[in-house]
Amino acid sequence: MRMILVGPPGAGKGTQAARLVDLFRIPHISSGDMFRAEVKAGTELGQELDRLMKTGGLVPDDVTIPIVLKRVTQPDTAKGFMLDGFPRTRPQAEALDAAMTKAGVALDAVVLIEVPDALLEERAVMRRSDPETGKIYHLKYNPPPPDVAGRLVHRADDTKEAVTKRVTKYHSETAPIIPFYQEKGILKRVDGVGDPDAITERIKAVLES
Ligand code: ADP
Ligand code: ADP
Repeated sequence: MRMILVGPPGAGKGTQAARLVDLFRIPHISSGDMFRAEVKAGTELGQELDRLMKTGGLVPDDVTIPIVLKRVTQPDTAKGFMLDGFPRTRPQAEALDAAMTKAGVALDAVVLIEVPDALLEERAVMRRSDPETGKIYHLKYNPPPPDVAGRLVHRADDTKEAVTKRVTKYHSETAPIIPFYQEKGILKRVDGVGDPDAITERIKAVLES
C-alpha cells in the first residue's frame, strides 16, 4: 500500500497515520516529524527550519523535495509507505509523481481528511505530544494520562497566530494538489469530524472501495 494523507493542520493526519501504519505494516513518513527531528538536532538546517516553521510558513520545495524523496526510496518502503504532510504543494506532488514513475511504482490512494476551518485552531492549540512514545494527545478530546503530563511537548507552531497562517497556506498552496490526484482517480475524501475510531473505519472503507 502506497498512500498519502492530506488535510489541513489539525485534521488528524498524524493520529490516523499511527493507526493505519500498524494495520498495513508500512513505514509512517511524516515530513513535519523529519523537520522537527532536524530542529531538535540543532543543525544549521534545523535552525533555518525552526525559524520558518515557528511562524507558520512552509519549508521551500527545494529543501523539502530532496529530503522526502530520499526517504521514500529507502529499502523499508519496498512494500509501501504512508506519507503524512507531503506533498503539500503542486511542485512537490509533481516531483513525487516523477520519482515514482521512474521507480516503476504507483500510488494506491490519496486520502483527504476534511475538517472545517472553524475546528482546526482548537485542535492544534490544545495538541500535545509525548516525545518518548510519539503519541499525540489533545487536552480536551484525548487527554494525556497523568504520568506523562510532565514531559509533554506543545509545538512552537501550535499557537493561534501560526495556525491561522498555516490554514491560509493550506488553502493557497496545498489545496491545488487535490485536483491533481482527483484527475488520476485515486483521491478519496473522508469526513474528519467525529470520533477518531469512526474516522479510521471511514478511511479503511474508502481504501477498500
Ligand atoms: P494533523 O497531523 O493533521 O495536524 P493530529 O493527528 O496531530 O493532526 O491531530 C491534531 C489534534 O487534534 C491532536 O491534539 C489530536 O489529538 C486531535 N484530534 C485528532 N483527531 C481528532 C478527532 N477526530 N476529533 C477531535 N480531536 C482530534
Ligand atoms: P500538521 O500536522 O499540523 O499539518 P506538520 O507536522 O505536517 O503539521 O508540519 C509542520 C510544519 O512543517 C509545516 O507548517 C511546515 O512549516 C513544515 N512542513 C511539513 N511538511 C512540509 C512540506 N511537505 N512542505 C513544506 N513544509 C512542510
